[in-house]
Amino acid sequence: MTERLLIEALDRLAAHGKHVTFWLRDDDCVEPTAALDTFLATAGGHHIPATLAVIPGRTGASLVRRLETERDVLIAVHGWSHENHGPQGVKKRELGLDRPIETIRDELRQGFELLAGWYGKRFLPMLVPPWNRIDAAVTALLPALGYDALSTFGPEKPGPLKMLNTHVDVIDWHGTRGGRDADTMFAEAAALCISGGVIGVLTHHLVHDGAVTDFLERLFGITAKHPGCRWRSAADILSSPAFPADQKT
Ligand SMILES: [Zn+2]
Repeated sequence: MTERLLIEALDRLAAHGKHVTFWLRDDDCVEPTAALDTFLATAGGHHIPATLAVIPGRTGASLVRRLETERDVLIAVHGWSHENHGPQGVKKRELGLDRPIETIRDELRQGFELLAGWYGKRFLPMLVPPWNRIDAAVTALLPALGYDALSTFGPEKPGPLKMLNTHVDVIDWHGTRGGRDADTMFAEAAALCISGGVIGVLTHHLVHDGAVTDFLERLFGITAKHPGCRWRSAADILSSPAFPADQKT
């Protein structure tokens, strides 16, 4: 089983007095569901802090109430309504330049204010673009709207604000739309441990099957208390004086 690869990578880091940082982002949160309960119980069972990317235009008070008792959960802004405005035949996007930029700006301002008002200290001024896509002209608007971080998928790129990305996606979007092969994901995580940087794990609780929950249990079981890694909240990582330089330690 390739979870050995991850364990060995972490063992090597620990042997050199080093560690890698993991963080967890879960997307498309709108309302309390059994799937959300399962996800929160899986992460919470190992004391793994999570950032929920909440869709402001589709959520409300019931989610606020559900999350009141969750200690290790932060809230980020997941676009506005998670609608695809791209033309047919183009990959889905809400934050491309398919509408007047003023409209997009107003939505992103409204989403920020709504979630900041509801979640207070647990609100993170970080934008998670739906489908992990955003036009550079929209990114350029973010600092003036109060956002101080952006989170997409894949390698971080230089830009006008801090980037805290995800790198391991647990869902096989182009195939089964269920959990990806666990061995592949353990191998990816092990490779990321070797290349350095903060490692973001991306989940979508609404479509998790047993394979995803099983993988997360195994991943958290291996990593939660290993001296070669730390799970940190997104706020903790972003506020670290060494970030993003510490991505490379
Ligand atoms: Zn999404």
